[in-house]
Amino acid sequence: MAWNIWGHSLPEMETWITSHGFPKFRAKQLQDYLYRRYIFSFDDMTQLPGPMREWLKENAVLEKPVIMSHITSNDGDTTKLLVKLSDGSLVETVCMHHVYGNSICVSTQVGCAMGCIFCASTRNGLERNLTAGEILAQVYAFRELFDAPIHSIVLMGAGEPLTNYDEVLRFIRLVSDPGLLNISLRNITLSTCGIVPMIDRLAAEGLPITLAISLHAPNDTIRNRILPSSRHFKIEDVVAAAHRYFKKTGRRVTFEYILIKDVNASRENAEELCRLVGKMNCHFNLIPINGTEHIKLYPPSWKDVKIFQEILEKHGKSTTVRRQMGDEIQAACGQLKRRYLEKK
Ligand code: SAH
Repeated sequence: MAWNIWGHSLPEMETWITSHGFPKFRAKQLQDYLYRRYIFSFDDMTQLPGPMREWLKENAVLEKPVIMSHITSNDGDTTKLLVKLSDGSLVETVCMHHVYGNSICVSTQVGCAMGCIFCASTRNGLERNLTAGEILAQVYAFRELFDAPIHSIVLMGAGEPLTNYDEVLRFIRLVSDPGLLNISLRNITLSTCGIVPMIDRLAAEGLPITLAISLHAPNDTIRNRILPSSRHFKIEDVVAAAHRYFKKTGRRVTFEYILIKDVNASRENAEELCRLVGKMNCHFNLIPINGTEHIKLYPPSWKDVKIFQEILEKHGKSTTVRRQMGDEIQAACGQLKRRYLEKK
C-alpha cells in the first residue's frame, strides 16, 4: 500500500527512504519540499532524480487535508479555517494574529466525547481521533495563507487532547522539530478538561509545554453540572495534578475559567476558587462565555467580570480576561462547523 508521506519526522522519513534503497540525504530533500517550500506534487520536486519521482508516484501518497473555507474577522485579528480531511470529516482551526506573530489553535479530534454543556464541538459526540499529520496540516494550512511567522500553538480546538495522547504527542514533537516549524515547546499550550492520570503521564515526558486546565468551577457540584466528564475526578485531585505538573516541569499551570452568569461567576464562587487552589503558583484565564444563547447561558456583566478578577488578584493570583477575538466569525469551539453543516 502506498505510504502517506505527510506528517513524519526526518528520522522516520530517512528510515523509509533508505529501506527502499535510496540514499539517506534524499529524505531531507523531501522534507524540505514539503515543509519549507510547500511543494506537494512529486513532478515538481525537480531536485530528485526522475526515476525516484516516478517511484514516489507509485509508492507514496500525499494525503494532506484541504482548506474548504476561511473567514477573517472585521478587525482582521482572527482567521478561521474549515479543513476537510481525506475521509470527508471537517475540522476547525483558528489563527489569532498578534503583534508578536500568529497563534494557531488546532483541533485534536473530530467532535469530542466530553459533553461540556457550553461547547458546540461535543454536541454530536466523538467521531474520531486526528492523526499527528492531520493536526500538523492545520498549522501548515495557515502557513500557506499567511507569511507571518507562527509564534505559538494552542491545542484548544475541538477535542480532548489527552484522550488522543499518542498522536498529540507525535504532533507536538513534529511541530517543534527544527526541520519542520521549529516552534519552541515553551510556546505550545495544551488544554485539557483535567484527566488526572494523563496529566501525570504528560508531566513525565519532560516537555516544557504549558498545561491549561479547564476548571470552570470552584467545586464539584458546579463542575459536574457543566462538565459532565468531570465526574470521574474530584476537583481537588485535578488541582493536585496541576500542582504536580508544576513541580515536575517548572511550568506554571493556567486554569481556564469560563464565566457564566448565575452559574459560577459570583463573589462567593471567586472566594471558594481561591480557597481551592490555595497558595499554588498558577494563572487564571477568565473567559466570559460566548455564543450559547440557544442553551440560555450568558456571560456576566463586565462589572461582575472585573469583580471576580479583583477577588482573585486580591488573593495574589495572576489573571487575564480573555479578549473576545473572532466572536462574529464564530471562532468559539465548533461554531463555524455547525453553521456550515446546518446550511447544507
Ligand atoms: N478539551 C479541552 C480543549 C478543547 S476546549 C479542554 O476542555 O480544555 C478549549 C477551551 O474552550 C476550553 O477551556 C473550553 O471550556 C472553552 N470553550 C468551549 N466552548 C466555549 C464557549 N462557548 N465559550 C467560551 N469558551 C468555550
